[in-house]
Amino acid sequence: MKCPRCKVELTRKMFENHPVDACGKCGGLWVHRHQLNELLDESHGDVESSSIDSREHKDKFPAAKCLSCDNRIMKKINFMEFSDIIIDYCPGCGSFWIDGQELDMMHDYIRRVEEGSHLVKDRSAYSILARLSQIAYRIYH
Ligand SMILES: [Zn+2]
Ligand SMILES: [Zn+2]
Repeated sequence: MKCPRCKVELTRKMFENHPVDACGKCGGLWVHRHQLNELLDESHGDVESSSIDSREHKDKFPAAKCLSCDNRIMKKINFMEFSDIIIDYCPGCGSFWIDGQELDMMHDYIRRVEEGSHLVKDRSAYSILARLSQIAYRIYH
C-alpha cells in the first residue's frame, strides 16, 4: 500500500501485536476501523458506537483516496465530534487516514486535557483519542 499523500510505500509497524501501516515520510497513519477497535479494547472505547458524523468538513489537506476501495474518495470527518481534528474516513471499508499533523493535534489536545485547561464531556470518546495518540507516539518515537 502506498501513502495517499506522498505515494511512498507504507511501512507495516506492530503495536501490541496489531499491524498498523505508517508513512515514514509524512508521519501519517493508516488504520482500519476493526484494527482500531481491537487496539482500543483496553480503553473500553468503541469506534463503531462513537459518533462519526456524516457532514463534510474541510481542512487544508486535499481529500485522500482509499487504499482499499479502488481509489474511492474518502470523507473528511470531525473525529470524535468534540475535537477539531479532521481526519479522512472511508465509509466503504471503514479505514481511517490520519495525517502526521493531525496526530500532532491529537497529542496537543490530550496535553491540554491533562493539564486541566480543557474539559472533556465524553470520557469514552476521549479514551479513544488518547489511545490513538499513544499508538502513534509509540510508532514514531
Ligand atoms: Zn506519506
Ligand atoms: Zn475504503
